[in-house]
Amino acid sequence: MSATKPYSFFQSVERSFDKAAKLTKWDLGILEQIKACNSVYQMRFPVKMDDGSIEVIEAYRVQHSQHKTPCKGGIRFSDEVNQDEVMALASLMTYKCAIVNVPFGGGKGGIKINPRNYSTYELEKITRRYTSELVKKNFIGPGIDVPAPDYGTGEREMSWIVDTYASLKPGEIDAAGCVTGKPITQGGVRGRKEATGLGVFFGIREVCNMEDVMKKLGLKTGVEGKTVVVQGLGNVGYHSAKFFREGGAKVIALAEYEGAIMNPNGLNEEEVFQHRKKTGSILNFPGATNLAKNTDALELECDILIPAALENVINGENAPRVKAKIIGEAANGPCTPEADEVFAQKGILCVPDMYLNAGGVTVSYFEWLKNLSHVRYGRMEKRFNENMNMKIINQMESLTGKTVGAEEKKSIAHGADEQELVHSGLEETMISATREIMELWHSNPDIPDMRTAAYVSAINKVATSYVELGIFP
Ligand code: NAD
Repeated sequence: MSATKPYSFFQSVERSFDKAAKLTKWDLGILEQIKACNSVYQMRFPVKMDDGSIEVIEAYRVQHSQHKTPCKGGIRFSDEVNQDEVMALASLMTYKCAIVNVPFGGGKGGIKINPRNYSTYELEKITRRYTSELVKKNFIGPGIDVPAPDYGTGEREMSWIVDTYASLKPGEIDAAGCVTGKPITQGGVRGRKEATGLGVFFGIREVCNMEDVMKKLGLKTGVEGKTVVVQGLGNVGYHSAKFFREGGAKVIALAEYEGAIMNPNGLNEEEVFQHRKKTGSILNFPGATNLAKNTDALELECDILIPAALENVINGENAPRVKAKIIGEAANGPCTPEADEVFAQKGILCVPDMYLNAGGVTVSYFEWLKNLSHVRYGRMEKRFNENMNMKIINQMESLTGKTVGAEEKKSIAHGADEQELVHSGLEETMISATREIMELWHSNPDIPDMRTAAYVSAINKVATSYVELGIFP
Protein backbone atom coordinates (compact mmCIF):
# COMPACT_ATOMS: atom_id res chain seq x y z
CA MET A 1 0.00 0.00 0.00
CA SER A 2 2.92 2.35 0.72
CA ALA A 3 3.68 2.70 -3.01
CA THR A 4 0.26 4.31 -3.52
CA LYS A 5 0.38 6.24 -0.24
CA PRO A 6 2.45 9.37 -0.69
CA TYR A 7 1.39 10.82 2.65
CA SER A 8 1.73 9.29 6.09
CA PHE A 9 -1.43 9.17 8.22
CA PHE A 10 -0.30 12.16 10.30
CA GLN A 11 0.60 14.10 7.15
CA SER A 12 -2.86 13.32 5.75
CA VAL A 13 -4.43 14.76 8.88
CA GLU A 14 -2.17 17.82 8.65
CA ARG A 15 -3.08 18.21 4.99
CA SER A 16 -6.81 18.15 5.71
CA PHE A 17 -6.21 20.57 8.59
CA ASP A 18 -4.30 23.02 6.36
CA LYS A 19 -6.99 22.87 3.69
CA ALA A 20 -9.58 23.90 6.30
CA ALA A 21 -7.34 26.35 8.17
CA LYS A 22 -7.12 28.56 5.06
CA LEU A 23 -10.86 29.07 5.33
CA THR A 24 -10.67 30.38 8.90
CA LYS A 25 -9.69 33.77 10.31
CA TRP A 26 -7.10 32.52 12.84
CA ASP A 27 -3.49 33.63 12.68
CA LEU A 28 -0.71 31.23 11.86
CA GLY A 29 0.60 30.93 15.44
CA ILE A 30 -2.71 29.72 16.79
CA LEU A 31 -3.13 27.30 13.89
CA GLU A 32 0.40 25.91 14.38
CA GLN A 33 -0.28 25.36 18.08
CA ILE A 34 -3.56 23.59 17.38
CA LYS A 35 -1.90 21.31 14.85
CA ALA A 36 1.11 20.34 16.96
CA CYS A 37 1.22 17.19 19.10
CA ASN A 38 2.06 18.56 22.56
CA SER A 39 3.56 15.45 24.17
CA VAL A 40 4.76 12.21 22.63
CA TYR A 41 5.79 9.40 24.97
CA GLN A 42 7.52 6.53 23.24
CA MET A 43 8.41 3.63 25.49
CA ARG A 44 10.02 0.20 25.47
CA PHE A 45 9.56 -2.28 28.30
CA PRO A 46 10.39 -5.95 28.85
CA VAL A 47 7.72 -8.58 29.44
CA LYS A 48 8.38 -12.22 30.29
CA MET A 49 6.36 -14.50 28.02
CA ASP A 50 4.74 -17.80 28.98
CA ASP A 51 7.69 -19.78 27.58
CA GLY A 52 10.14 -17.85 29.79
CA SER A 53 11.55 -15.67 26.99
CA ILE A 54 11.71 -11.91 27.36
CA GLU A 55 10.12 -9.67 24.75
CA VAL A 56 10.78 -5.96 24.48
CA ILE A 57 7.47 -4.22 23.80
CA GLU A 58 7.21 -0.98 21.84
CA ALA A 59 4.39 1.34 22.91
CA TYR A 60 3.21 4.94 22.72
CA ARG A 61 0.97 7.51 24.33
CA VAL A 62 0.47 10.83 22.60
CA GLN A 63 -1.25 13.87 24.10
CA HIS A 64 -2.08 16.06 21.17
CA SER A 65 -3.68 18.95 23.01
CA GLN A 66 -4.26 20.12 26.56
CA HIS A 67 -6.46 23.09 25.67
CA LYS A 68 -9.00 21.10 27.67
CA THR A 69 -8.07 18.44 30.20
CA PRO A 70 -8.00 15.54 30.61
CA CYS A 71 -6.74 14.27 27.26
CA LYS A 72 -8.86 11.48 25.88
CA GLY A 73 -8.38 8.73 23.32
CA GLY A 74 -8.26 4.99 22.87
CA ILE A 75 -5.46 2.47 23.12
CA ARG A 76 -4.80 0.35 20.08
CA PHE A 77 -3.17 -3.09 19.99
CA SER A 78 -1.89 -3.77 16.49
CA ASP A 79 1.38 -4.74 14.89
CA GLU A 80 0.93 -1.75 12.56
CA VAL A 81 1.22 0.72 15.48
CA ASN A 82 3.86 3.42 14.98
CA GLN A 83 4.47 6.94 16.24
CA ASP A 84 3.05 8.62 13.15
CA GLU A 85 -0.19 6.67 13.43
CA VAL A 86 -0.64 7.40 17.14
CA MET A 87 0.05 11.11 16.53
CA ALA A 88 -2.53 11.21 13.73
CA LEU A 89 -5.13 9.45 15.86
CA ALA A 90 -4.44 11.74 18.84
CA SER A 91 -4.91 14.82 16.61
CA LEU A 92 -8.20 13.47 15.29
CA MET A 93 -9.34 13.07 18.90
CA THR A 94 -8.79 16.76 19.64
CA TYR A 95 -10.88 17.77 16.64
CA LYS A 96 -13.50 15.12 17.31
CA CYS A 97 -14.01 16.20 20.92
CA ALA A 98 -14.27 19.86 19.87
CA ILE A 99 -16.91 19.13 17.22
CA VAL A 100 -19.18 17.19 19.56
CA ASN A 101 -18.58 19.59 22.47
CA VAL A 102 -16.89 17.05 24.72
CA PRO A 103 -14.53 19.05 26.96
CA PHE A 104 -11.36 16.98 26.45
CA GLY A 105 -8.08 17.40 24.62
CA GLY A 106 -7.03 14.68 22.18
CA GLY A 107 -4.85 11.71 23.11
CA LYS A 108 -4.14 8.23 21.81
CA GLY A 109 -2.12 5.20 22.77
CA GLY A 110 -0.80 2.19 20.97
CA ILE A 111 1.06 -1.02 21.70
CA LYS A 112 2.83 -2.60 18.75
CA ILE A 113 1.59 -6.17 19.13
CA ASN A 114 -0.79 -8.47 17.35
CA PRO A 115 -2.98 -9.59 20.26
CA ARG A 116 -3.75 -12.88 18.47
CA ASN A 117 -0.13 -13.91 19.01
CA TYR A 118 -0.27 -13.67 22.81
CA SER A 119 -1.98 -15.61 25.58
CA THR A 120 -4.48 -13.84 27.82
CA TYR A 121 -1.96 -13.86 30.64
CA GLU A 122 0.72 -12.30 28.42
CA LEU A 123 -1.73 -9.62 27.25
CA GLU A 124 -2.61 -8.87 30.86
CA LYS A 125 1.07 -8.48 31.76
CA ILE A 126 1.69 -6.20 28.76
CA THR A 127 -1.36 -4.03 29.54
CA ARG A 128 -0.55 -3.74 33.23
CA ARG A 129 3.11 -2.89 32.55
CA TYR A 130 2.06 -0.28 29.97
CA THR A 131 -0.27 1.26 32.57
CA SER A 132 2.47 1.46 35.19
CA GLU A 133 4.76 3.14 32.65
CA LEU A 134 2.01 5.72 32.07
CA VAL A 135 1.60 6.22 35.84
CA LYS A 136 5.36 6.68 36.29
CA LYS A 137 5.42 9.51 33.75
CA ASN A 138 2.11 11.02 34.91
CA PHE A 139 0.53 10.18 31.56
CA ILE A 140 -2.70 8.76 32.97
CA GLY A 141 -5.28 9.91 35.51
CA PRO A 142 -8.88 11.15 35.68
CA GLY A 143 -7.68 14.76 35.38
CA ILE A 144 -4.67 14.11 33.12
CA ASP A 145 -5.26 11.61 30.36
CA VAL A 146 -8.03 9.01 30.13
CA PRO A 147 -7.60 6.10 27.68
CA ALA A 148 -10.42 3.99 26.22
CA PRO A 149 -10.81 0.96 23.93
CA ASP A 150 -9.76 1.10 20.31
CA TYR A 151 -8.72 -1.39 17.64
CA GLY A 152 -7.72 -4.66 19.33
CA THR A 153 -8.77 -3.67 22.85
CA GLY A 154 -12.01 -3.79 24.81
CA GLU A 155 -13.55 -4.00 28.27
CA ARG A 156 -11.08 -6.62 29.47
CA GLU A 157 -8.03 -4.42 28.81
CA MET A 158 -9.76 -1.41 30.39
CA SER A 159 -10.36 -3.50 33.53
CA TRP A 160 -6.67 -4.33 33.77
CA ILE A 161 -5.82 -0.65 33.34
CA VAL A 162 -8.17 0.63 36.05
CA ASP A 163 -7.08 -2.09 38.44
CA THR A 164 -3.38 -1.33 37.91
CA TYR A 165 -3.94 2.41 38.22
CA ALA A 166 -6.03 2.06 41.41
CA SER A 167 -3.47 -0.22 43.02
CA LEU A 168 -0.68 2.28 42.32
CA LYS A 169 -2.78 5.19 43.62
CA PRO A 170 -4.32 3.88 46.83
CA GLY A 171 -7.10 6.07 48.18
CA GLU A 172 -7.58 8.07 44.98
CA ILE A 173 -11.32 8.42 45.15
CA ASP A 174 -11.77 9.18 41.45
CA ALA A 175 -9.48 6.37 40.26
CA ALA A 176 -12.29 4.75 38.22
CA GLY A 177 -12.22 7.83 35.98
CA CYS A 178 -8.66 7.04 34.79
CA VAL A 179 -10.01 5.02 31.84
CA THR A 180 -13.35 4.53 30.10
CA GLY A 181 -14.95 1.61 28.28
CA LYS A 182 -14.81 -0.45 31.49
CA PRO A 183 -17.21 -3.28 32.30
CA ILE A 184 -20.22 -2.10 34.36
CA THR A 185 -18.90 -3.81 37.51
CA GLN A 186 -15.67 -1.80 37.25
CA GLY A 187 -17.38 1.59 36.86
CA GLY A 188 -18.44 1.37 33.22
CA VAL A 189 -21.60 2.96 31.89
CA ARG A 190 -24.45 1.12 30.19
CA GLY A 191 -24.44 1.91 26.48
CA ARG A 192 -20.68 2.36 26.00
CA LYS A 193 -19.99 -0.87 24.15
CA GLU A 194 -22.36 -0.09 21.26
CA ALA A 195 -21.81 3.69 21.40
CA THR A 196 -19.54 4.19 18.39
CA GLY A 197 -21.66 2.03 16.06
CA LEU A 198 -24.87 3.60 17.32
CA GLY A 199 -23.36 7.07 16.83
CA VAL A 200 -22.42 6.14 13.25
CA PHE A 201 -26.02 5.10 12.67
CA PHE A 202 -27.47 8.28 14.24
CA GLY A 203 -25.12 10.47 12.15
CA ILE A 204 -25.87 8.76 8.83
CA ARG A 205 -29.59 8.57 9.61
CA GLU A 206 -29.60 12.34 10.11
CA VAL A 207 -27.84 12.84 6.75
CA CYS A 208 -30.37 10.49 5.12
CA ASN A 209 -33.20 12.53 6.62
CA MET A 210 -31.97 15.68 4.85
CA GLU A 211 -34.17 15.95 1.79
CA ASP A 212 -31.93 18.31 -0.21
CA VAL A 213 -28.82 16.17 0.43
CA MET A 214 -30.59 12.96 -0.61
CA LYS A 215 -32.04 14.63 -3.72
CA LYS A 216 -28.55 15.64 -4.82
CA LEU A 217 -27.35 12.05 -4.40
CA GLY A 218 -30.38 10.71 -6.26
CA LEU A 219 -31.57 8.83 -3.18
CA LYS A 220 -34.85 8.62 -1.30
CA THR A 221 -35.05 10.28 2.13
CA GLY A 222 -34.57 8.03 5.16
CA VAL A 223 -32.45 5.03 6.08
CA GLU A 224 -35.15 2.49 5.41
CA GLY A 225 -34.52 0.28 2.38
CA LYS A 226 -30.98 1.58 1.81
CA THR A 227 -28.29 -0.96 0.97
CA VAL A 228 -25.27 -1.01 3.26
CA VAL A 229 -21.80 -2.59 3.07
CA VAL A 230 -19.72 -2.84 6.25
CA GLN A 231 -15.96 -3.51 6.41
CA GLY A 232 -14.81 -4.95 9.77
CA LEU A 233 -17.01 -6.94 12.11
CA GLY A 234 -15.34 -5.78 15.32
CA ASN A 235 -16.91 -3.53 17.91
CA VAL A 236 -17.70 -0.59 15.61
CA GLY A 237 -18.57 -2.57 12.47
CA TYR A 238 -20.74 -5.10 14.29
CA HIS A 239 -22.81 -2.44 16.04
CA SER A 240 -23.05 -0.23 12.94
CA ALA A 241 -24.42 -3.19 10.98
CA LYS A 242 -26.81 -4.05 13.81
CA PHE A 243 -28.32 -0.56 14.06
CA PHE A 244 -28.61 -0.13 10.27
CA ARG A 245 -30.40 -3.47 10.03
CA GLU A 246 -32.69 -2.61 12.94
CA GLY A 247 -33.31 0.80 11.35
CA GLY A 248 -34.70 -0.87 8.21
CA ALA A 249 -31.62 -0.82 5.98
CA LYS A 250 -30.28 -3.93 4.24
CA VAL A 251 -26.70 -4.96 5.03
CA ILE A 252 -25.83 -6.64 1.73
CA ALA A 253 -22.13 -7.34 2.36
CA LEU A 254 -19.69 -7.74 5.24
CA ALA A 255 -15.90 -7.82 4.98
CA GLU A 256 -13.41 -9.15 7.48
CA TYR A 257 -9.70 -9.76 7.53
CA GLU A 258 -10.01 -13.18 5.88
CA GLY A 259 -12.56 -12.31 3.19
CA ALA A 260 -15.94 -10.84 2.32
CA ILE A 261 -19.46 -12.19 1.85
CA MET A 262 -22.47 -10.84 0.05
CA ASN A 263 -26.21 -11.46 0.06
CA PRO A 264 -28.47 -8.98 -1.76
CA ASN A 265 -31.35 -10.04 0.52
CA GLY A 266 -29.48 -8.83 3.59
CA LEU A 267 -27.18 -10.31 6.24
CA ASN A 268 -27.71 -10.57 9.98
CA GLU A 269 -24.51 -9.46 11.72
CA GLU A 270 -25.09 -11.63 14.80
CA GLU A 271 -25.56 -14.79 12.72
CA VAL A 272 -22.42 -13.96 10.72
CA PHE A 273 -20.54 -13.25 13.94
CA GLN A 274 -21.57 -16.63 15.39
CA HIS A 275 -20.63 -18.37 12.12
CA ARG A 276 -17.19 -16.74 12.28
CA LYS A 277 -16.79 -17.76 15.92
CA LYS A 278 -17.63 -21.34 15.05
CA THR A 279 -15.68 -21.71 11.82
CA GLY A 280 -12.94 -19.11 12.27
CA SER A 281 -14.02 -17.23 9.13
CA ILE A 282 -16.95 -15.24 7.77
CA LEU A 283 -16.56 -17.08 4.45
CA ASN A 284 -19.04 -19.80 3.42
CA PHE A 285 -21.88 -18.22 5.40
CA PRO A 286 -25.11 -20.03 4.46
CA GLY A 287 -26.99 -18.19 1.70
CA ALA A 288 -24.18 -15.73 1.00
CA THR A 289 -21.64 -15.55 -1.83
CA ASN A 290 -17.92 -15.35 -1.06
CA LEU A 291 -16.11 -12.46 -2.75
CA ALA A 292 -12.71 -13.11 -4.29
CA LYS A 293 -10.87 -10.50 -2.15
CA ASN A 294 -12.00 -8.83 1.06
CA THR A 295 -11.39 -5.41 -0.52
CA ASP A 296 -13.93 -6.25 -3.28
CA ALA A 297 -16.66 -5.39 -0.78
CA LEU A 298 -15.54 -1.75 -0.88
CA GLU A 299 -16.30 -1.61 -4.59
CA LEU A 300 -19.82 -3.05 -4.50
CA GLU A 301 -22.87 -1.17 -5.76
CA CYS A 302 -24.59 0.13 -2.59
CA ASP A 303 -26.11 3.25 -1.04
CA ILE A 304 -23.95 3.39 2.09
CA LEU A 305 -20.41 2.07 2.60
CA ILE A 306 -19.17 1.81 6.19
CA PRO A 307 -15.42 1.18 6.50
CA ALA A 308 -15.06 0.14 10.17
CA ALA A 309 -11.64 -1.54 10.27
CA LEU A 310 -8.48 0.48 9.76
CA GLU A 311 -7.05 3.58 8.06
CA ASN A 312 -6.12 4.15 4.38
CA VAL A 313 -8.33 1.38 3.02
CA ILE A 314 -9.89 3.67 0.39
CA ASN A 315 -7.15 5.53 -1.44
CA GLY A 316 -6.25 7.05 -4.79
CA GLU A 317 -5.92 3.59 -6.29
CA ASN A 318 -9.32 2.04 -5.46
CA ALA A 319 -11.47 5.17 -4.90
CA PRO A 320 -12.33 5.46 -8.63
CA ARG A 321 -13.97 2.01 -8.38
CA VAL A 322 -16.09 2.83 -5.31
CA LYS A 323 -19.77 2.86 -6.26
CA ALA A 324 -21.39 3.79 -2.94
CA LYS A 325 -23.33 7.07 -2.81
CA ILE A 326 -22.51 7.75 0.84
CA ILE A 327 -19.39 6.73 2.75
CA GLY A 328 -19.70 6.75 6.52
CA GLU A 329 -16.23 6.76 8.03
CA ALA A 330 -16.73 4.59 11.11
CA ALA A 331 -13.00 3.78 11.35
CA ASN A 332 -10.42 6.50 11.88
CA GLY A 333 -8.86 7.71 8.64
CA PRO A 334 -10.22 5.02 6.26
CA CYS A 335 -10.15 7.41 3.27
CA THR A 336 -7.00 9.23 2.15
CA PRO A 337 -6.93 12.84 0.82
CA GLU A 338 -6.47 11.38 -2.70
CA ALA A 339 -9.71 9.43 -2.22
CA ASP A 340 -11.45 12.63 -1.10
CA GLU A 341 -10.53 14.23 -4.43
CA VAL A 342 -12.06 11.32 -6.31
CA PHE A 343 -15.24 11.51 -4.20
CA ALA A 344 -15.56 15.21 -4.98
CA GLN A 345 -15.35 14.49 -8.72
CA LYS A 346 -17.79 11.59 -8.55
CA GLY A 347 -20.28 13.36 -6.24
CA ILE A 348 -19.90 10.78 -3.47
CA LEU A 349 -20.76 12.13 -0.01
CA CYS A 350 -18.09 11.21 2.53
CA VAL A 351 -19.28 11.68 6.11
CA PRO A 352 -16.02 12.16 8.02
CA ASP A 353 -14.63 10.02 10.84
CA MET A 354 -13.80 13.05 12.85
CA TYR A 355 -17.33 13.43 14.05
CA LEU A 356 -19.13 10.35 12.73
CA ASN A 357 -17.31 7.95 15.06
CA ALA A 358 -17.48 10.35 18.02
CA GLY A 359 -20.13 8.19 19.72
CA GLY A 360 -17.42 6.34 21.62
CA VAL A 361 -15.83 9.42 23.09
CA THR A 362 -19.21 11.02 23.78
CA VAL A 363 -20.36 8.08 25.87
CA SER A 364 -16.88 7.83 27.39
CA TYR A 365 -17.47 11.39 28.57
CA PHE A 366 -20.74 10.24 30.17
CA GLU A 367 -18.85 7.34 31.80
CA TRP A 368 -16.17 9.69 33.15
CA LEU A 369 -18.86 12.01 34.57
CA LYS A 370 -20.51 8.98 36.20
CA ASN A 371 -17.17 7.99 37.74
CA LEU A 372 -16.60 11.47 39.14
CA SER A 373 -20.13 11.70 40.52
CA HIS A 374 -20.02 8.14 41.88
CA VAL A 375 -23.65 7.53 41.01
CA ARG A 376 -25.43 5.65 38.26
CA TYR A 377 -27.44 7.74 35.78
CA GLY A 378 -31.13 7.73 36.64
CA ARG A 379 -30.65 6.39 40.15
CA MET A 380 -32.05 9.49 41.84
CA GLU A 381 -34.88 10.41 39.48
CA LYS A 382 -36.08 7.21 37.80
CA ARG A 383 -38.63 6.25 40.43
CA PHE A 384 -39.63 9.85 41.12
CA ASN A 385 -40.43 10.45 37.43
CA GLU A 386 -42.30 7.17 37.21
CA ASN A 387 -44.47 8.03 40.21
CA MET A 388 -45.10 11.54 38.95
CA ASN A 389 -46.04 10.30 35.45
CA MET A 390 -48.38 7.73 36.97
CA LYS A 391 -50.11 10.47 38.99
CA ILE A 392 -50.58 12.55 35.82
CA ILE A 393 -52.08 9.58 33.93
CA ASN A 394 -54.38 8.74 36.84
CA GLN A 395 -55.54 12.37 37.00
CA MET A 396 -56.21 12.37 33.26
CA GLU A 397 -58.15 9.15 33.58
CA SER A 398 -60.34 10.53 36.34
CA LEU A 399 -60.88 13.84 34.51
CA THR A 400 -61.78 12.21 31.18
CA GLY A 401 -63.48 9.09 32.52
CA LYS A 402 -61.36 7.06 30.08
CA THR A 403 -58.71 4.48 30.98
CA VAL A 404 -55.30 3.78 29.52
CA GLY A 405 -54.29 0.10 29.04
CA ALA A 406 -51.89 -1.36 31.62
CA GLU A 407 -49.02 -1.88 29.14
CA GLU A 408 -49.50 1.56 27.58
CA LYS A 409 -49.58 3.11 31.05
CA LYS A 410 -46.32 1.40 31.98
CA SER A 411 -44.57 2.55 28.83
CA ILE A 412 -45.72 6.20 29.17
CA ALA A 413 -44.97 6.40 32.89
CA HIS A 414 -41.65 4.60 33.05
CA GLY A 415 -38.62 6.59 34.23
CA ALA A 416 -35.52 6.49 32.07
CA ASP A 417 -32.73 4.11 33.07
CA GLU A 418 -29.01 4.57 32.50
CA GLN A 419 -28.87 3.05 29.02
CA GLU A 420 -31.83 5.09 27.79
CA LEU A 421 -30.30 8.30 29.12
CA VAL A 422 -26.93 7.49 27.54
CA HIS A 423 -28.52 6.67 24.16
CA SER A 424 -30.56 9.85 24.33
CA GLY A 425 -27.47 11.97 25.09
CA LEU A 426 -25.67 10.28 22.21
CA GLU A 427 -28.55 10.79 19.78
CA GLU A 428 -28.76 14.47 20.66
CA THR A 429 -24.98 14.88 20.26
CA MET A 430 -24.83 13.16 16.85
CA ILE A 431 -27.87 14.95 15.43
CA SER A 432 -26.62 18.37 16.57
CA ALA A 433 -23.12 17.75 15.23
CA THR A 434 -24.43 16.54 11.85
CA ARG A 435 -26.67 19.60 11.47
CA GLU A 436 -23.93 22.00 12.60
CA ILE A 437 -21.41 20.63 10.09
CA MET A 438 -23.91 20.48 7.23
CA GLU A 439 -25.01 24.08 7.89
CA LEU A 440 -21.41 25.26 8.00
CA TRP A 441 -20.66 23.44 4.74
CA HIS A 442 -23.71 24.76 2.92
CA SER A 443 -23.31 28.32 4.24
CA ASN A 444 -19.81 28.74 2.81
CA PRO A 445 -19.32 28.03 -0.91
CA ASP A 446 -15.53 27.89 -0.40
CA ILE A 447 -15.83 24.78 1.78
CA PRO A 448 -15.47 21.90 -0.70
CA ASP A 449 -16.65 18.95 1.37
CA MET A 450 -18.03 17.75 4.69
CA ARG A 451 -14.58 16.79 6.02
CA THR A 452 -13.29 20.32 5.51
CA ALA A 453 -16.44 21.69 7.17
CA ALA A 454 -15.81 19.40 10.17
CA TYR A 455 -12.21 20.62 10.39
CA VAL A 456 -13.30 24.28 10.15
CA SER A 457 -15.77 23.69 12.98
CA ALA A 458 -13.10 21.99 15.11
CA ILE A 459 -10.47 24.66 14.41
CA ASN A 460 -12.90 27.44 15.32
CA LYS A 461 -13.78 25.81 18.61
CA VAL A 462 -10.22 24.93 19.67
CA ALA A 463 -8.89 28.34 18.61
CA THR A 464 -11.63 30.13 20.55
CA SER A 465 -10.75 28.07 23.57
CA TYR A 466 -7.04 28.96 23.29
CA VAL A 467 -7.85 32.64 22.89
CA GLU A 468 -10.23 32.60 25.82
CA LEU A 469 -7.61 30.78 27.91
CA GLY A 470 -5.54 33.92 27.42
CA ILE A 471 -2.62 32.07 25.80
CA PHE A 472 -2.85 34.14 22.65
CA PRO A 473 -3.60 37.80 23.32
P1 NAD B 1 -11.98 -4.03 16.67
O1 NAD B 1 -10.63 -4.56 16.93
O2 NAD B 1 -13.07 -4.35 17.61
O3 NAD B 1 -12.48 -4.46 15.20
C1 NAD B 1 -11.81 -4.25 14.02
C2 NAD B 1 -12.17 -5.38 13.07
O4 NAD B 1 -11.65 -5.09 11.76
C3 NAD B 1 -11.57 -6.72 13.49
O5 NAD B 1 -12.60 -7.69 13.54
C4 NAD B 1 -10.55 -7.03 12.39
O6 NAD B 1 -10.37 -8.40 12.14
C5 NAD B 1 -11.17 -6.30 11.21
N1 NAD B 1 -10.21 -6.02 10.13
C6 NAD B 1 -8.90 -5.72 10.21
N2 NAD B 1 -8.37 -5.52 8.99
C7 NAD B 1 -9.38 -5.72 8.10
C8 NAD B 1 -9.47 -5.67 6.71
N3 NAD B 1 -8.41 -5.38 5.95
N4 NAD B 1 -10.66 -5.92 6.12
C9 NAD B 1 -11.75 -6.21 6.86
N5 NAD B 1 -11.72 -6.26 8.21
C10 NAD B 1 -10.56 -6.03 8.83
O7 NAD B 1 -11.78 -2.45 16.53
P2 NAD B 1 -12.89 -1.32 16.66
O8 NAD B 1 -12.88 -0.82 18.06
O9 NAD B 1 -14.15 -1.79 16.04
O10 NAD B 1 -12.20 -0.17 15.78
C11 NAD B 1 -12.35 -0.14 14.36
C12 NAD B 1 -12.02 1.28 13.88
O11 NAD B 1 -12.91 2.20 14.52
C13 NAD B 1 -10.60 1.78 14.19
O12 NAD B 1 -10.20 2.63 13.14
C14 NAD B 1 -10.80 2.59 15.46
O13 NAD B 1 -9.80 3.56 15.62
C15 NAD B 1 -12.15 3.21 15.17
N6 NAD B 1 -12.86 3.68 16.35
C16 NAD B 1 -13.17 2.83 17.38
C17 NAD B 1 -13.88 3.32 18.46
C18 NAD B 1 -14.34 2.41 19.59
O14 NAD B 1 -15.12 2.89 20.45
N7 NAD B 1 -13.97 1.17 19.64
C19 NAD B 1 -14.23 4.68 18.54
C20 NAD B 1 -13.90 5.51 17.47
C21 NAD B 1 -13.21 5.00 16.39
